[in-house]
Amino acid sequence: MILENCSIFDGKTIQERSISIDGDVISKIGKGFIKARDEEKINVKERLVLPGFICAHAHAYSAFAFAFPVKGQSKDLKELLKNLWWPLDQTLDREGVYQSAVLTGIRYLRNGVTTILDHHASPNALRGSLSTLAEGFKEVGMRSCLSYEVTDRYGEDKAEEAIKENEEFAKEFGGGIKDEMVSALFGLHASFTLSSESLQKCREIARKLDIGFHLHLAEGSVDVIDARRRFKKPLVQHLRDEGILNEKTLAAHCVNLNKEDIKALGRTNAKVITNPRSNANNGVGIMPLDAIMQEKILVGIGNDGLEYDMFEEIKALQYMQSLKAEKPSALSPEVLNEILFINNSKIASNLFKREVGRISEGAYADLAILDSKPFGEKFNLTNLDSSLIDSVMVNGKWVIKEKKFVFDVARYEEGVRKTAERMRERAPKV
Ligand SMILES: [Zn+2]
Repeated sequence: MILENCSIFDGKTIQERSISIDGDVISKIGKGFIKARDEEKINVKERLVLPGFICAHAHAYSAFAFAFPVKGQSKDLKELLKNLWWPLDQTLDREGVYQSAVLTGIRYLRNGVTTILDHHASPNALRGSLSTLAEGFKEVGMRSCLSYEVTDRYGEDKAEEAIKENEEFAKEFGGGIKDEMVSALFGLHASFTLSSESLQKCREIARKLDIGFHLHLAEGSVDVIDARRRFKKPLVQHLRDEGILNEKTLAAHCVNLNKEDIKALGRTNAKVITNPRSNANNGVGIMPLDAIMQEKILVGIGNDGLEYDMFEEIKALQYMQSLKAEKPSALSPEVLNEILFINNSKIASNLFKREVGRISEGAYADLAILDSKPFGEKFNLTNLDSSLIDSVMVNGKWVIKEKKFVFDVARYEEGVRKTAERMRERAPKV
């Protein structure tokens, strides 16, 4: 397939080129391609062509939060987890896990998000949950990297099961080798719900499988206080000593860190995933982005399962960092583009066989085409929003064409409705 007259934004500049797609891969970028007989040729009419967005930290299990009654006003993150998120995970059954992926996938794709790095929990439908999620994402055509949140909060047996779930799934799908739409990381909930013994078991397996961890780090102050209390160490030092932080680790949030912690984190080469809207909603604070970037830590962006739109997520990062710095537009367009496009692509490309989130030869053909011509040569996200998404391609196949899904989305409504009903019935009464 040839897409001609594209205004391609690759994370840095806009270039007028054509894209040739062979199967699931971008085979050539250039000008004046001659189409083969029977080859499809589409005139993109100089509209903006972006790499499909990547959400680098997500929770598909939050898809049914709308159907879940919340108990009272939570005073902090730990209370919110106890009032909403932990009871919600526990209510998910196998079908609920599948429907979460389907619903989440449809919502992300609508916003041009083509790859999700999910961090999953469903303690009452644990074994096989990652394969079930993968099936749901594949059903709607979404690329995913999955991990299960190991935690000690449901006892030793459940922690063991969660470790096994990560191990078996990663053995099969790690590196995106077996299935190019699916990859794996080793999930850990957060330090404050894990013992040293559990961390050691996880470390051994992750090391053997040569995969990275995906965990929450210093989201709320509870994580920091707990490490001091139980391990008599700063949180980053504790996780580093346990062998959890390394160049393959994705540490989500990193809000409650001081300069010393950030220096220590920089030395581990772990990657940071910021989730600005979730941090705002949970009232946990504003990430010290300046200090983190000064240590040359690679920062990507996710949404922590709160909404599905990466345009709005990166704008929220700008708003919150500007509030913190008390100056207008504190982050340059280049920094915002680097975090959303370049860094997220680097993070995801390490997890799959080919490059993800780039428009380059040899990368997966994951694209978001906007119903907009470029505003000059510079690309400024603040001028754009997801209502402009016109067409979305994943792995060389159209998922959305001219603002319409290529499959009948309505056929999933009944499954979603039934799951929401079941969740409402099973939810603890408030
Ligand atoms: Zn999270």
